[in-house]
Amino acid sequence: MDAFYRETWAEINLDHIFCNVSTIKETLPPTKQLIAVVKANAYGHGDVQVARTALEAGASMLAVATLDEAISLRKRDIEAPIIILGAVPPQFVYLAIKYNIILTVYSSEWLRTAQKVVPRTEAVQFHLKLDTGMGRLGLRTEEEIEEFFTLLQETPHFKLTGVFTHFATADELDQGYYEQQYHRFQKLIGYIKEKGIEPGLVHCGNSASLLRFPNDEFDAVRLGISMYGLTPSTEMKSLIPIQLKPAYSLHTKIVHVKKIEKGTSVSYGATYTSEQEEWIATLPIGYADGWMRRMQNFYVLVDGQKSPIVGRVCMDQCMIKIPYELPIGTQVTLIGKQEAEEITMEQVADHSNTINYEIPCVITNRMPKVFIRNGEQVEVYNGLSHLE
Ligand SMILES: *Cc1c(COP(=O)(O)O)cnc(C)c1O
Repeated sequence: MDAFYRETWAEINLDHIFCNVSTIKETLPPTKQLIAVVKANAYGHGDVQVARTALEAGASMLAVATLDEAISLRKRDIEAPIIILGAVPPQFVYLAIKYNIILTVYSSEWLRTAQKVVPRTEAVQFHLKLDTGMGRLGLRTEEEIEEFFTLLQETPHFKLTGVFTHFATADELDQGYYEQQYHRFQKLIGYIKEKGIEPGLVHCGNSASLLRFPNDEFDAVRLGISMYGLTPSTEMKSLIPIQLKPAYSLHTKIVHVKKIEKGTSVSYGATYTSEQEEWIATLPIGYADGWMRRMQNFYVLVDGQKSPIVGRVCMDQCMIKIPYELPIGTQVTLIGKQEAEEITMEQVADHSNTINYEIPCVITNRMPKVFIRNGEQVEVYNGLSHLE
């Protein structure tokens, strides 16, 4: 068990992740497979811990964005099927073979290059990506599909085991564009089948669409943000049929407290000046932890109350105004619940002009993580490798 030697940490409640995954799985038809999306270190929650929990809760497959992420899971004994959703450089396909990882193939050009570098003795498993309106990766038309499968015939060691697409607007109230993409996908899948090709595992759903339309006609869904207990968008909040439990909370402890007189400035640039005598506390968290400079003027929870962040957020520290003197070591919550109050990921995101997805992703590796399972602390992770 890794230790850490600072009083700032993220707490990851794996019980909540288990609960979100199993509750969502129950809303799906029993034969539909659930792919747990654990890219970007499980949206900043800890990839291997989340992967294990999601598999226990009923996921049958994992998805990541890069080859490095996939290999990293394999090296920590994750044996479930893993798909890489992003583009893998063809020269590294041999590693996907070595570690038994499923690739995403998204263009004939990619296949042509890969065909040249992968020996015929090795089987490459891949899912084909179709672009039905996201405009990111994938084949767009029947002509492109035709060309692709003609090319594929030359190299039978490239094995198609699935076909998928990704929605651009499934989290918006207006369903028009979503439906257009869905129908285009249905049509292209139909075209592939007409050619006598078995598409394998067909999937299109992300959190937003699988929560709203759990009965789509396909074989699997890719669950990302809602596994972590977060809603895909604020406008969708009212449409979610289940109670999601946020798994991520962020905490620190007061390291210094002082009383300042009226007219005293705090932090770089002296952008904050007290209007009366005030209590100021210093927190050992800053933008190098991912608690960004723009969190100035937001607030944290101390002693069950909101306390404003005053002055600029520094690299490693920031200051808050507290209502009265509090002892050194008092716990401060930056994301999550404290007594009757709660700071949600959405509130932090709103203040930073972004979406909830981005917030845990940009908390840096300097932040230690404490994992909770079955109500107990089961593991501590320190991103820095200085431990004896
Ligand atoms: C990230 C990602 C997902 C998960 O999306 P959520 O909105 O987090 O559920 C699904 N599919 C693809 C292709 C992705 O890149």
